[in-house]
Amino acid sequence: MGDPVRYRCAGCGNVTRFDVVAVRRTRAFHHYSLAGELTLEDESVLDEQIVEVTCRWCGASGATVVEIGEPSAEAASSG
Ligand SMILES: [Zn+2]
Repeated sequence: MGDPVRYRCAGCGNVTRFDVVAVRRTRAFHHYSLAGELTLEDESVLDEQIVEVTCRWCGASGATVVEIGEPSAEAASSG
């Protein structure tokens, strides 16, 4: 599938912290044990729609938060 989309807040320059609201349609193999315990396997995303992206730093959303195409340099610090 595609690369993960990255965002940048034009308001404050944030590129790392966002609240993302998305609607996903997924298909998964629901594997039940005889005791009724459920294990999800082979989950795949059939469709995904990003509803809203909000900057965690300044609270901006909508057109202020833009998608950035190519992943910059390196994922500096993850975590
Ligand atoms: Zn911001």
